[in-house]
Amino acid sequence: MARISVVGAGPNGLTAAAVLAVAGHEVTVFEAAEEIGGATRSADLTGGGGISDIGSAVHPIGAQSPVFKALELERYGLEWAHPEIPLAHPLDGRPAALMHADLATTAAELDVDERAWKALYGPLVPETQTMLESLLSPLLPLPKHLMRSLGFLGLSGLPAAALQASALRGEDARALFAGIALHSALPLERLISSGFGIVLGAIGQRHGWPFARGGSQAIARALGRLIEEHGGTIRTGHRITDLREVTVGGERPDVTMLSLTPAQLLRLEGFDVPEGYRRRLARFRYGPGVVRVEFELSEPVPWSDPRLAGAGTLHLCGTAAECAAAERAAHSGGIPERPFVLAAQQDAADASRRPSSGGRLLWTYARLSTASGLGPEVETAFAGAIEDQVERFAPGFRDTVVARHVMGPAALEAFDANLVGGDIIGGAMGLRQQLFRPVASLDPYRTPMPGVFLCSSSVPPGGAVHGMPGLHGAASAMRWLEG
Ligand SMILES: Cc1cc2nc3c(=O)[nH]c(=O)nc-3n(C[C@H](O)[C@H](O)[C@H](O)COP(=O)(O)OP(=O)(O)OC[C@H]3O[C@@H](n4cnc5c(N)ncnc54)[C@H](O)[C@@H]3O)c2cc1C
Repeated sequence: MARISVVGAGPNGLTAAAVLAVAGHEVTVFEAAEEIGGATRSADLTGGGGISDIGSAVHPIGAQSPVFKALELERYGLEWAHPEIPLAHPLDGRPAALMHADLATTAAELDVDERAWKALYGPLVPETQTMLESLLSPLLPLPKHLMRSLGFLGLSGLPAAALQASALRGEDARALFAGIALHSALPLERLISSGFGIVLGAIGQRHGWPFARGGSQAIARALGRLIEEHGGTIRTGHRITDLREVTVGGERPDVTMLSLTPAQLLRLEGFDVPEGYRRRLARFRYGPGVVRVEFELSEPVPWSDPRLAGAGTLHLCGTAAECAAAERAAHSGGIPERPFVLAAQQDAADASRRPSSGGRLLWTYARLSTASGLGPEVETAFAGAIEDQVERFAPGFRDTVVARHVMGPAALEAFDANLVGGDIIGGAMGLRQQLFRPVASLDPYRTPMPGVFLCSSSVPPGGAVHGMPGLHGAASAMRWLEG
């Protein structure tokens, strides 16, 4: 049995701790905040007694995550709540495009692309587990089902704009695909931007896009219970600035798991980072930041298309061309005038989230460039642009708002130091950093510092709540312990 310290109690640090505790090691987790969960924490943000997700909300990959399934988090209180319609993409002056948890229903409702949509997703929907294994594995060893994965990996490598323009003709289908692909947080003209459109679309049309019942923090709480049941300790309100402070059972740990991003690792004291590794980490690039706005409403959102009352997630950006332009602006030093707004109505699936007034909540965020730094005026104007996008597809929305809670990039980073510059996925996800994250290495989890491992979203497979960087980081540490 080894003594293991884990720095950071987001979903990845907690997953690493859970895997190591289940394997019989003595684990202590150190968390800077007063509560565990990192960017999956939930709170009453607007003061009306509701439960808002401060960070992550929508968990299509989390609900299918191989490590969450293996850890049987449902036994520790995690429950997934499914909205009637997983995803809606409203369009001006016409019915919204909807993604149902069923391929045939989604395709049948599209204007002219029923066959094309089935041709694109038909072969993929039955292969979601294979796809997830490939997507959520480190680069090496090569995926187990390499031959079966090749088709999907080939499609995923394409720029989403090119795939959507060649495969789909109708504006509704193109916009639906573009919105899903934007979960890559990449401009749609870039290589591999199709990946998320392919994987999240296929998962959604088979398993839906659920929320965690009672708030996303339920994921972290389930992991926390599991860790404690296996003898682990979690110390909240304990920010680590110097690794020499860290003890497990009163002694120096054999292994330290850092669920931190490269910039944070480089600020830590108490260990020597070789100059070459330091230089490589310093080259790591963060992505655009986000502005996060939570709305409390007196009544349900007055969507022009009334079917949207039952939608869990909504992509608010209009046509595929508008969505693409918004993301380009966020990556090229600009502030999109009409941003790509990701919105969620968790309380459509989970009434326990609603404010005590009986009103509703709307979770939103949108990306913007933080290259030139953001003053409060820019943040306020951008929060207004987010609100305008909701109003565009739900006239009268503004009149229903009883409270707003806005967090810009600086507030997000103050809330969770891993959200560097408001980047919510632990570093840009372009081709290079998707493959080599944070540095090119056969084992990116292992650092050159003996016994120190990385397990945050800055290592493969990257951002989102699925715990897989935690699993792979823990596996690397166990290989090292075994010599
Ligand atoms: C606004 C927003 C929306 C998102 N939406 C989604 C979504 O819908 N679906 C999805 O799957 N993902 C979403 N994400 C991304 C997802 O939340 C992250 O990818 C995920 O939380 C990363 O997990 P992590 O454990 O690597 O880091 P984090 O969750 O960021 O946790 C890191 C933890 O480390 C702690 N810490 C940092 N420094 C120290 C230190 N020195 N000492 C001790 N503790 C420290 C922090 O306090 C924090 O608790 C969203 C994120 C945000 C912010």
